Amino acid sequence: MIKQNLHTHSTFDDGQNTMEEMVRAAISAGLTSLGFSIHTPMPYPACWTIPPDRMADYIAEARRLKTAYQERITVYCGAEWDLYSAQRALGFDYVIGSIHHIPANDMLYGVDSTPDETRQYLRVFGSADAAAEAYFRQYVALSKIEEVDIVGHIDLLTKFDEQGNFFQPDSARFREAAHSAVDVLIAAGKIFEINTGAISRGYRTTPYPSAMLLREIVRRGGMITISADAHRAQDVNFQFAESESLARACGVTELWQFNGKGFEPIPIGG
Ligand SMILES: [Zn+2]
Ligand SMILES: [Zn+2]
Repeated sequence: MIKQNLHTHSTFDDGQNTMEEMVRAAISAGLTSLGFSIHTPMPYPACWTIPPDRMADYIAEARRLKTAYQERITVYCGAEWDLYSAQRALGFDYVIGSIHHIPANDMLYGVDSTPDETRQYLRVFGSADAAAEAYFRQYVALSKIEEVDIVGHIDLLTKFDEQGNFFQPDSARFREAAHSAVDVLIAAGKIFEINTGAISRGYRTTPYPSAMLLREIVRRGGMITISADAHRAQDVNFQFAESESLARACGVTELWQFNGKGFEPIPIGG
């Protein structure tokens, strides 16, 4: 089974456990490497990102843990960079590029905030398909960010669909918008994650992306990795076995892993 998780939060951003607790949990879970992915600061104060003046402490703590636990696990210092972050994510081991927002009427709506906020921006767009098109169109900009290695939760906007049935991911317009985004991201060499974070936090019963979209990403030649988007110690490899089975069922034959310098494909069992 996959023994690496590169999508990890902590008390430096919106996680519930310290970085050290996450490392210890990862060791207990049998992982051989753990990468932290700090939410980088937004242009405005946000409770889910690291405060800008703590970034040096985050990097120092990752470095300390890397040395302290080097006999038992490899620790990486990454970032989950949001498209609307205040600054580029330079100087990290790797970068997950995520789009947590959708712009409408001179406002940035959070697509993973609440079902209510989802209702609000859908009202502004007039239809779910129009909102989906606007959301996925943003991946063109993300694809151009050189330091982004992995695309975070590509269909995050569907987060609340099990509660509210907001989007129609099988509609022609939704699919066309999603597939166009996938194509530009593949052309730019980005890796796609199967992300179990919304399951461990009780919002969904299936990971991002949907199986339908994952199959399409694979069919189009996309590289795949699996990540927990862990916000608690007990979730460092949440549903990795299930995700591997899902990946296999969707045609994935290898998973891309970070080796400290770059990404390499590791075959998954047939
Ligand atoms: Zn995210
Ligand atoms: Zn995350």
